[in-house]
Amino acid sequence: MILLDRVTVMYPNKTVALSGISLHINPKEFVTIVGASGAGKSTLIRLLIKEEVPTSGKIIVGSIDYDTIDKANIPHLRRRIGVVFQDFKLLPNLTVYENVAFALEVSGVKTSEIKRAVPKILQLVGLSEKMHNYPSELSGGEKQRTAIARALVRNPKILIADEPTGNLDPKNSWDIIELLLKINRFGTTVVLTTHNKEIVDALKKRVITINRGRVVKDEKIGKYSL
Ligand code: ADP
Repeated sequence: MILLDRVTVMYPNKTVALSGISLHINPKEFVTIVGASGAGKSTLIRLLIKEEVPTSGKIIVGSIDYDTIDKANIPHLRRRIGVVFQDFKLLPNLTVYENVAFALEVSGVKTSEIKRAVPKILQLVGLSEKMHNYPSELSGGEKQRTAIARALVRNPKILIADEPTGNLDPKNSWDIIELLLKINRFGTTVVLTTHNKEIVDALKKRVITINRGRVVKDEKIGKYSL
């Protein structure tokens, strides 16, 4: 569960990026967040991964109240929330396998467990055959699959996909969306941001529209209309 209660973010330059936003996202939902550039989508995502703190208001994710979480618990929170970005953010000098394994290594997972988990997740995202390739040897779609595998391997409850198809052609974009839907069917909450009208309209899922830091529309089967 993701709960935002009257959350406002004002940056030091007095820009109000989010203005009293209240949101409730249930476990296992698939939600798309749309909004023009500057609407506040990135700020909302940075709040959820605690890279940003609200100026006022309350955020609760799972059973974690962001007001009371201490620094030591932030890695724990980041494990519960996987994130993928438009530009993939893969480590160029590591193979697909190593990129995914690295996410487990930094959280102190045993090598035997890593050897079990990584091939399994690479199979799920359809990358078993590219396991030993480097990012420079992958297509955009394969890079995004690697990023998704890396986010998923820690078994997060929530997957945030911030413009995951922004750098992909239509075919690869659809493949990534299909993968997100599959992950969602397995029980992971998916929060997607996208500017792709065709995708949003075809999904027939909940759409939250943000404009100038406010929720202006929240529809169960939404359309892309800004
Ligand atoms: P979106 O992701 O929808 O494009 P953002 O959350 O990036 O929107 O931005 C919302 C508003 O906050 C915009 O007016 C933007 O210029 C401003 N903003 C974003 N980040 C900062 C920052 N670090 N400092 C000051 N203003 C910012």
